[in-house]
Amino acid sequence: MKAQACPCGSSQSYSACCRLLHRGVKKARSAEQLMRSRYAAYARCEYQYLVDTHYPDTRGTLSLDELEKSNHETSWLGLEILTAEDKQVSFRAYFVQLSDQRLQCLCEASRFLREGDDWFYIDGQHRPELAVLPRRKDPCFCGSGKKLKNCHGDLID
Ligand SMILES: [Zn+2]
Ligand SMILES: [Zn+2]
Repeated sequence: MKAQACPCGSSQSYSACCRLLHRGVKKARSAEQLMRSRYAAYARCEYQYLVDTHYPDTRGTLSLDELEKSNHETSWLGLEILTAEDKQVSFRAYFVQLSDQRLQCLCEASRFLREGDDWFYIDGQHRPELAVLPRRKDPCFCGSGKKLKNCHGDLID
């Protein structure tokens, strides 16, 4: 059986990549790694990890229930890192809602901080002007290396 690829786009298997962070075996060593592992946590419904890596001061009332409710209709299909600096990462995340199966893109600039050995997500600002969908002849957002039209082409017009 082929090992399942990690949703974060590392091209490693999930069990050798973000699962180690989700299970607390390893810690993120950079803001980008934490960002990738948090995206993978949305894709794998690892909600406790999302709560634990959200900085307590900005976490508010975020709960497992709330995350489950907001995420269970969503299928995460691809991650693209636009810029990764020391404490800020901008990314595009591609997804469909189960109800309509149309490709959508979320673009966010996220802020992170480190305390001791632990990286945390502070908050993020949506960048709708950068949330652009790829065109049919562009490489597919899923990282397959194929053109979109020959891969996930049925999700766009
Ligand atoms: Zn990963
Ligand atoms: Zn694809």
